[in-house]
Amino acid sequence: MVKVAVTGAAGRMGRTLIEAVARTEGLELGAALEQPGSSLLGCDSGELAGIGKNEIEVVSDLKQVLNQFDVLIDFTVPAATEFNVKCCVEAGKKIVIGTTGFSVAQKNVIDAAGSQLALCMASNFSTGVNLCFKLLEIAAQVLGDEVDVEIYEAHHRHKVDAPSGTALSMGEVVANALGRDLQEVALYGREGQMGPREDKTIGFATVRAGDIVGDHTVMFAAEGERVEITHKASSRMSFARGAVRAARWLSDRPAGVYDMQDVLGIK
Ligand code: NAP
Repeated sequence: MVKVAVTGAAGRMGRTLIEAVARTEGLELGAALEQPGSSLLGCDSGELAGIGKNEIEVVSDLKQVLNQFDVLIDFTVPAATEFNVKCCVEAGKKIVIGTTGFSVAQKNVIDAAGSQLALCMASNFSTGVNLCFKLLEIAAQVLGDEVDVEIYEAHHRHKVDAPSGTALSMGEVVANALGRDLQEVALYGREGQMGPREDKTIGFATVRAGDIVGDHTVMFAAEGERVEITHKASSRMSFARGAVRAARWLSDRPAGVYDMQDVLGIK
């Protein structure tokens, strides 16, 4: 049995993760965490997730529950994840990271942790999106520099970072397949007299509205035809199921930085 802890337990993903862990054979919830000062500390995490009492109280101090789990699943905010990664390194625990919006410095901390612990990080844990990453690689290789690449993403009104981590990952997959550096070719939004489109740029467009769980489209547009690869998430359970699958997969892996394509075996 793999024991899992969920941070951000009261968040949208945290609650869904608690439900997904309860539904998954071979996994058991060992701890549920929220930030200090949260009004939900002390609540039963099963009740919070809407699945009935599970006798795992929401607590705030990760160090207090280190003996209650093997793998931490973290979908919170970058600063909290950075702190949790450092705790996991000290305690020799594995970690699944779903948080998005890291700075370059924070990403470096996470990458460095991979030499000491097994961690799986993905901007999107859904199986469908990870399949799309593979399809995007093939599309970019076949269509090459003949096409203009544009990436559109839409999310709910509460999302704080933009473009989404998934849209950026899609941009990276396409840029790598085309031999470009995303940092050099990315164009984040357009306004005013921009002039004609520059060759080889990869454009991003962001929408924030209502309760959209997550839509992504990558367009490869040439003269006379275009290919669009689209993924639409309709429930957070798609991310949660992927993350718990990653937690189980990670439980017997050596130190390293893995992603969902490693988990799915489609690298
Ligand atoms: P959310 O509903 O705002 O949940 C975030 C949770 O983290 C909240 O419970 C929040 O508590 C808690 N938190 C904030 N600061 C904390 C701290 N310092 N220590 C401990 N907990 C803290 O957001 P969400 O929609 O669940 O998304 C969470 C993250 O996952 C975002 O970065 C999002 O982009 C990402 N995400 C990734 C995927 C993927 O597949 N990789 C899918 C969906 C979402 P308070 O409410 O008390 O602030």
